[in-house]
Amino acid sequence: MSFNVAIDGPAGAGKSSVAKAVAKKQGFIYVDTGAMYRAMSLYYIRKEIDVNDVEAICARLDEIEISLAYEDGVQQVFLNGENVSGLIRTEEVGMATSTISKIKEVREKMVALQQEIAKTTDVVMDGRDIGMWVLPNADVKIYMTASSIERARRRHKELLEKGGTKTLEEIEQDIIARDYQDMNRENSPLVQAPDATYLDTSDMNLEEVIRAIMNMIDEKKAAV
Ligand code: C5P
Repeated sequence: MSFNVAIDGPAGAGKSSVAKAVAKKQGFIYVDTGAMYRAMSLYYIRKEIDVNDVEAICARLDEIEISLAYEDGVQQVFLNGENVSGLIRTEEVGMATSTISKIKEVREKMVALQQEIAKTTDVVMDGRDIGMWVLPNADVKIYMTASSIERARRRHKELLEKGGTKTLEEIEQDIIARDYQDMNRENSPLVQAPDATYLDTSDMNLEEVIRAIMNMIDEKKAAV
């Protein structure tokens, strides 16, 4: 049986940095499910298909193949064989992704793939629906969040380093709008699983968050 860690939470909570580090320390695979949805939405953006047009999105689902590979332990996401990892990180792609990921058929396709990976592999998987729907039997579940201004500050710093020009206020508004959509959709909205540990990282640094999760994993392993 594989050991599965599920990390959910709103945009910019630090899930991916933490999940990546914990996976490395544990010798697990890190699965960034957001990147899978983002790669999918890139397909529709490139084809200039309206991401609100559910019928058009569903009609072309079969044209899309998403796959993952790892280079030096870092996840790379492929869209129909093309490595698109460097093209999917903008907030514009983030918002389009949030819109297509409301669609049931889109989710079914991605969830099946994610469950397949976790069945045979020890994973740290992060996203919005992992603890509730993708890996309901995960060994460790965490709901990670931070205040919207703190999350915006982290995103802002990250984007500035990449040459972004958005203000802190604009980024906070983007984050709030995306969270609202993710939390209020009909299909698998972002909620804390009842058996997940709530972790507010507003006043924690990366090392402290990593240590907290490593402790949870060690405790779980010791109990098995
Ligand atoms: O985590 P990230 O910000 O990359 O996710 C982008 C968007 O993909 C989210 O805002 C959410 O709408 C969607 N998503 C999802 N389910 C997941 C992961 C991401 O619906 N498991």
